[in-house]
Amino acid sequence: MDKNFQEDECIQIIKFKPPLYKQRHQFVKDLVEKYKPKKVADLGCADCSLLRMLKFCSCIEVLAGLDICASVMKEKMHTLSPLPVDYLQPSERSLTVTLHHGSVAHKDPCMLGFDLVTCIELIEHLEESELQKFPEVVFGFMAPSIVVISTPNSEFNPLLPGVMFYRHPDHKFEWNQAQFQSWALETARCYDYSVEFTGVGHPPTGMEKVGFCTQIGVFVRKYPQTGASVQSEKPTEAVYKTVFKAVYPSLKDEKYLQNAVISEVIFTAQIIKHRLISKREENGDDPERKSKFQPSMDSFSDYLGKLVVEKNMQPFVSGNEVYIPLATIFSFPKVNRLCGTFEKLCKLIAGKVTLSSDGSAVMFNIEHENEEN
Ligand code: SAH
Repeated sequence: MDKNFQEDECIQIIKFKPPLYKQRHQFVKDLVEKYKPKKVADLGCADCSLLRMLKFCSCIEVLAGLDICASVMKEKMHTLSPLPVDYLQPSERSLTVTLHHGSVAHKDPCMLGFDLVTCIELIEHLEESELQKFPEVVFGFMAPSIVVISTPNSEFNPLLPGVMFYRHPDHKFEWNQAQFQSWALETARCYDYSVEFTGVGHPPTGMEKVGFCTQIGVFVRKYPQTGASVQSEKPTEAVYKTVFKAVYPSLKDEKYLQNAVISEVIFTAQIIKHRLISKREENGDDPERKSKFQPSMDSFSDYLGKLVVEKNMQPFVSGNEVYIPLATIFSFPKVNRLCGTFEKLCKLIAGKVTLSSDGSAVMFNIEHENEEN
């Protein structure tokens, strides 16, 4: 028996494990991991549960949700806001999450430029007139590289307990496999997409002809499209109302990058300073060995030891001041990755970190540390 499915033989109750909605969302997540889209729009996003899952996919930079029912979106939309930890450790990627109130039967320019559009259990909620406009809006106007559409497979309904007609009172129709596939193939043909069919929720062994409980079509655009041409070719008036927008703190934003670089520079310099001072103490009064960094056996010191080969990278003590060259700090992988160039490092810390008079080293006064010792 399929692992996603349990059957209680006495009462013929089929339960899916994990629940079917989770399997649908996992299907989308897997697709995101495969195609790595940057911009994803979820149409008919309801309580935003799919968006909540997708915000953790590191390739995604823009997430948008659309629903005709503002109240269902608003219920849990606060859970799409950044958490305190997102501010403490801003991510390297940028992420904006926006929720719009409107209908998939209407075009709005805010829906242009997406790579992936998901329509999970949406189309069966559309009135006939909306369903007619839907392909032109999604495939003609939005025209993303990939569209995923899932909808109930009515052939599975007799296997579901308590389903007499449709699975949900708001469903306007439920299609069998042939109906969905012919609609999808015709839509794909009209808008120059290819489509492949799959699903989630396996039928019981021996009843494979029934098909998946949820049928899914994955549409892939056959023609290339450049981001720049998208906006200019399709002037359209905005009709959706934006009900939520969250811009996540990101290191792509200069102010968060600057904070991260300053903390990392001070942290790195402090560690080097502590090593330098403790080595001086170990080496006692030997004036030759006193003020220069001497490597020891641990890996951090080994690393520093390699750096001191270059003269201008040696940390040193002069009187009550410790000088840690910026070149040394820049050579640390995390600082290096954050800043990219030495010039950028200098620019980001200018005026924020105490430097030597020539600006080449971070300077610490150790007068009080000496007193304590
Ligand atoms: N996609 C969700 C749930 C879908 S239920 C999930 O995966 O769990 C269908 C949703 O489509 C409902 O929230 C409903 O309000 C919305 N909907 C119905 N008609 C719509 C339309 N014309 N435009 C946009 N959303 C619509």
